[in-house]
Parts: sequence; C-alpha cells; structure tokens
Amino acid sequence: MKIEAAERVQKIPPYIFAHIDKLKREARERGVDLVDFGIGDPDLPTPPHIIEALGAGAARPEHHRYPAYEGSLPTRQAAADFYARRFGVALDPKSEVLTLIGSKEGIAHLPLAITNRGDLALVPDPAYPVYATTTRFVDGEVYRFRLDADHEFLPDLDGIPAEVAARAKLIYINYPNNPTGGVATLDDLARIDAFARRHDLIVVSDLAYSEMYFEEAPPPSYLQLPGAKERCIEFYSLSKTYNMTGWRIGFALGNPTLVAALGKIKTNFDSGVFGAVQEAAVAAMSGDQTCVAQMRAIYRERRDLLVAALRRKGLSLRAPKATFYVFAKVPGAIGSMDFTVRLLQEAGIVVTPGIGFGDGGEGFVRFALSVPAERIREAVARLEKFAL
Ligand SMILES: *Cc1c(COP(=O)(O)O)cnc(C)c1O
Repeated sequence: MKIEAAERVQKIPPYIFAHIDKLKREARERGVDLVDFGIGDPDLPTPPHIIEALGAGAARPEHHRYPAYEGSLPTRQAAADFYARRFGVALDPKSEVLTLIGSKEGIAHLPLAITNRGDLALVPDPAYPVYATTTRFVDGEVYRFRLDADHEFLPDLDGIPAEVAARAKLIYINYPNNPTGGVATLDDLARIDAFARRHDLIVVSDLAYSEMYFEEAPPPSYLQLPGAKERCIEFYSLSKTYNMTGWRIGFALGNPTLVAALGKIKTNFDSGVFGAVQEAAVAAMSGDQTCVAQMRAIYRERRDLLVAALRRKGLSLRAPKATFYVFAKVPGAIGSMDFTVRLLQEAGIVVTPGIGFGDGGEGFVRFALSVPAERIREAVARLEKFAL
C-alpha cells in the first residue's frame, strides 16, 4: 500500500475540535443563532493607514517579483526599532531579525532548524498545539509541564524531574498565554531564565499577545533579560496587535545562530512575505499606535462584561490581565468537552474545551473575546437562564 499518508501525518492526533465544528454546523442548519467565543481571531478590521500602505505597495512593480526570504532590510529595521522603543531591546536587523509569513510559520518550521531526532522539548500544558505537533514531525520528544491556575499559570519548573531537565534541549514559553490568559512579569521570566541557564536550554518565546494587555505595566519580552540573546529566539506577530491575522506577517528575533538556522530552513520552503504586506507592516509598527490603545479598550469592555457574567453564574476564573481569552473553570465534575457540547446545544454559546490544549487544560473552557459587546450581552442573557 503506497497511496497513503506518511507516518508523521498518520500520527497527528485526531482533530479534537472536529466534533464541535460538526455540532456548530448542525446548529446553524437548524437556524440556531450561535454566539461564537470559539475563534481566537480578532473580529475587528485592520486599521485604515495599514490598508493604505498595502495599496501603495501593491502598485510597485518591484513587489511583483519574488521577495527576499528574510524580509527587506527596512522591514527588519522597523521590527528592531519597535523592539527598541517598546522593550528597550537592541537587535541587529541583519543577523537578529527574520521576517516570517505569520509567526506560526516560523514556530512550525523551528524544529526543523534546531531539533535533532530524539531531542527533548519542554512544552507547556496547556499550550498552543503547534509546539508539540511540529516537534514530533522531526522525531523530537515532548515533555509537557503543567501551567496551574493556582500558580497564575506560570510553569511548575520544580515539578520537572531532574533527569528530564538535564536531557532537555529547549523549552517553549508563551506569555501572555494562550489559552490561559496568564501573564509573566520580568521576575517570572528571570526565574525561567535561571532554569534555562542551569540546564543550558534554548528558550523559544512566543510573544504573540504582548500588546493585548489591560494592566498599567505592559508585558515584557524575554529578550529584556540580561544575556537573553545567548539562548532565546522570540516570535513576535502583527496578527493580534493590528487585527492582521489574514495578512500573514511576523518575526523571529534574538539569538543570531538560531535565527540563521531558521532562515536557512526558510530558503528551502518559501520566498518571503509579499513586499506590499511588508510595507504595510512597517506602517503598522512605525505609525501612530492609537489604534492599539483603542483595540485594548474594546477588549477590556468585552472582558469585563463576560467576566462579571461568568462570576455571577458561579464560575471560577481569573480576569485575564492580557490576551483576549477568558479561561474559566468548568463547574462540577463534567469534562470540558461535555460542558462545551452542553453550552452549544442548550444555550447556543460556542467555547473551546481546555482539553484541546493538552491534558493540563482539562477542567477549563476558553472564551475568546472576538465577539462584539452586544453579542456578549446576548450570551450573558442566555447564560442567566442556563442550568449549570
Ligand atoms: C495567534 C497566535 C500566534 C500568531 O500566529 P500568526 O501566525 O502570527 O498569525 C502565535 N502563537 C499563539 C499562541 C497564538 O495564539
């Protein structure tokens, strides 16, 4: 039998959300008006000045040819300037910044660049599924470490067995965190860094949500830590900050050896981001940031509406200090998948079961705040009538 998928494809765990997708489809066919908190994708449009830059760039013939795989120098310079302004981090745009076709592209290709067969990666549980799946694609090993609500969803590094820590090659972190909404302070990152130094680990930091925050102090970058560039590759994305998930642009930044390794993989896979999208990204990062403050205000209102309603309903949760996710404890002994199905079928409310992010997510459901306030009010009204 030769007409079949490769083993690595066959080994991909069954898509846990397929069942929910089916129930959603069936409900919609019955005419049910669903309020969908399931999608981690901003519902708001990209700000107009960014769209204008795309239009101007699209007209330039130089962008109609293959773009340089690593991104134009002005684009990488704009990302370096953003890091200098926002985090006080100095980066060499030539050797320490790589343009990506969305940060997921880089995160997913990274194991090809840095992970050998049998290398062990420490991956949070729960987590964005890409880290573990793509590590397994290259026959890397995965050890999941817990993020517990009782520890503010910070890594339980002491819970990692000594022989596992000694054998590990890299650790993935993602703060502000999807799906938990957990935030790490610079002190928290310093504790992770001490662990990484002790075990000589590569640190892969996913910073997709750095600008989606609700506290006075904005979340830090791992690269702010002294000497972080010795071991860290960080992924920054324009997707969530500027409502640009459809545009596909992000960056890998930090350790030049790791950035170069990823760049080498990319030269064999793609030809870089469309030049006009790069120009739009420069406009986004270098332009007026009022749109980002407005985005935060909108999510804050949504967060407060939903958090208050879930609390009135007796659900236990932390109001997220960052990200657009509310990670709520499922009441009673019901599993996260069963609770999700009940919410969908009895209240027309769609959430994501925590189990979809790993065993550590069991007992929780994730609400994405990609729903306008008036629809959240509708969901709240339905929740009031929902029997837990
Ligand atoms: C949304 C998200 C990203 C960003 O993906 P892009 O490919 O840049 O759109 C990365 N990591 C996590 C955890 C995310 O939730």
